[in-house]
Amino acid sequence: MISTGPDIHTYAGNGYIYVIREQKVLVDLKGDELAIPFKDAAAGLDLYDSDGYHIGMLDSRTCDAYPVPAAAEPPRGMGFMGLRRLFGILDPEKYSMAVRAMGILNWDRTCRFCSACGSKLKRLPAIFAKQCESCGFTMFPKISPAVIVAVEKADTILLARANRFAENLYSVLAGFAEPGESLEDTVRREIKEEVGIEVKDVRYFGSQPWPYPDSLMIGFTASWSSGEITVDNDEITDARWFTVEGLPLIPDKISIARSLIDSFVEKIGRR
Ligand SMILES: [Zn+2]
Repeated sequence: MISTGPDIHTYAGNGYIYVIREQKVLVDLKGDELAIPFKDAAAGLDLYDSDGYHIGMLDSRTCDAYPVPAAAEPPRGMGFMGLRRLFGILDPEKYSMAVRAMGILNWDRTCRFCSACGSKLKRLPAIFAKQCESCGFTMFPKISPAVIVAVEKADTILLARANRFAENLYSVLAGFAEPGESLEDTVRREIKEEVGIEVKDVRYFGSQPWPYPDSLMIGFTASWSSGEITVDNDEITDARWFTVEGLPLIPDKISIARSLIDSFVEKIGRR
């Protein structure tokens, strides 16, 4: 684990501050390691107290999240960096807190009026929720569950290309849960819709919050049961069974998609 080490800003009661500017996090670049700055270091930025959130504790310090306008300049020796660049560099707990900060501020920014009557919302104290000033309807941070699935057939894994992917990139299939479905139902429906095959042995793998803007990716493994791959050509442009030796370009380490593929590769290696 990376230590932030002694710092001139360190004193009792000075917590971490997660300053978010357009999906990027303010980091202190002055030491040997990247660090999340302490609260007093954010002086000079356009922070508005009413827009900040207390989001948790780390190392017995408070963690607060604040949005700043797109034009806000970082203090000297600091910079704004995206989560992708910070993954594997920032200490995992501080990274997770950055994901949380981004998710909560995304919600705060996009949830401004009552979805029942359209009136203004006010923030409730102590919990992440807003209440309508007119009809009393309470709105909580929205989390959109999506399944992401590694389907295996013998020594091969199903990978597909979506039309939004970078060139030559293939990944496991994913899709959002719909009302009334169990996550296992979602897995079977998405795979059937996107590539026309039936799967069995649907098993939970792990999950990952993905704050773009509010997804929770829930990973599963499954086995091919029947059917031939038929690509819908709408969302998916190509899908194939790949061997470990013949893997195409796959997503980078930050994603649960990659964890699913890496896990398959390890499993084949043990056979
Ligand atoms: Zn209302």
